Amino acid sequence: MFKKVLIANRGEIALRVLRACKELGIGSVAVHSTADADAMHVRLADESVCIGPPDARESYLNIPQILAACEITGADAVHPGYGFLSENAKFSEILAAHNVTFIGPRAEHIEVMGDKIAAKTTVKKLGIPVVPGSDGAIHSVDQARALASEMGYPVLVKASAGGGGRGMKVAGSEDELANAIGTARSEARANFGDDAIYLEKYLQNPRHIEVQVFGDGMGKAIHLGERDCSLQRRHQKVWEEALSPAITAQQRDEIGMISAKAIGDLGYSGAGTIEFLYEDGEFYFIEMNTRLQVEHPVTEAITGLDLVAEQLRVAAGHGLSVTQDDVRFNGHAIEVRINAEHPETFRPSPGMIDAFHPSGGLGVRVDSAVYQGYAIPPYYDSLIGKLIVHGETREMAINRLSRALDEFVISGVDSTLPLFRRLVNEPDVRSGDYSIHWLERWLAAQSA
Ligand code: ADP
Repeated sequence: MFKKVLIANRGEIALRVLRACKELGIGSVAVHSTADADAMHVRLADESVCIGPPDARESYLNIPQILAACEITGADAVHPGYGFLSENAKFSEILAAHNVTFIGPRAEHIEVMGDKIAAKTTVKKLGIPVVPGSDGAIHSVDQARALASEMGYPVLVKASAGGGGRGMKVAGSEDELANAIGTARSEARANFGDDAIYLEKYLQNPRHIEVQVFGDGMGKAIHLGERDCSLQRRHQKVWEEALSPAITAQQRDEIGMISAKAIGDLGYSGAGTIEFLYEDGEFYFIEMNTRLQVEHPVTEAITGLDLVAEQLRVAAGHGLSVTQDDVRFNGHAIEVRINAEHPETFRPSPGMIDAFHPSGGLGVRVDSAVYQGYAIPPYYDSLIGKLIVHGETREMAINRLSRALDEFVISGVDSTLPLFRRLVNEPDVRSGDYSIHWLERWLAAQSA
């Protein structure tokens, strides 16, 4: 096993990784920007190194500084968390060249999945169902027009390098197509420096269902069931569940086995998430994330596995601790993302937290790195913490979530707690009857 892991991240995920390291008897190194000198992950790590100013480009994304921190502290592995450098193939290669293990998949797999066209082509060959669309990149409006009229409108123009919902445009009819292509291209060029685009059938009322997979890098892979992340705002997840209330055990088994087999055939190593849209009984691949996800705790709740510990094992060459036959799904789990944002306008609300009382009790987990008296810096994402509940049934989990939300106290900054207190009582949420558009429509109706 590793002797010392450097955690190249901040906030709740840095703390999450730190906890796993401590429990496994592995030394830990926190890195931080000058804005995070008082952060919890810095206080709790064995050692810490300041790697630069608040601007993430000069600190959490600064590869030479992180490498220097590895050398100074003698860390033999780096856990990248999510975001920042977690899906940067170059970073993993540079670490390898300096004999530091990147806790994640091989660079070639990060690279192929980071390019959406290449990812789609790759997984399709491995037997994973994809959204109908262009075979590779679109080179002209005429080509797009011909394909779109064959598929039928609406169609979605997507950037191959896209992420965070950027570089995506819907065309409802042929009149809108040229414009959608132009906008998607220029957004992609400006944001990602790559204007390759492709075309997909636009699914009108899908759910977002993603499969958690794990490969040992030697051809063996398992799946840990799915998460339903259909409640989204601006293509960002706000509420995640395991398992999905929308699919049957047989469908779970099928899509899980297809996913695990593809990951095994790829020789993939570590944690990954295969994201699908699901509509009318069919799954359609949209992308694969080659890292730990924000919403991984719901999978931990229903499987009883520690996903970070599993990542550490695999990266250290010890393989997975379980086989597919060992994996059992127990009960239902829900995670809500509590952000420092106004619950109606979603305006970010950084600043001093003057009271913080997380909920507790049976079946409740709070992953947060804030504390009373902590000032949320304005430079990074607005996540205060994640509230995760586990119950025997979905109904029990929702009831538990409702009472946990009632107990939770955050004051000094705005938070999205009031939003969730309303959502838990919505009949559609209670019944699990929603698509990826439900939340946006509900929010629009609330403010009308
Ligand atoms: P990003 O990497 O920018 O997050 P994704 O491909 O993961 O892009 O898509 C993000 C979200 O956009 C999905 O969760 C879904 O809400 C929507 N979306 C993507 N592709 C389609 C599609 N073909 N039809 C309808 N909605 C889509």
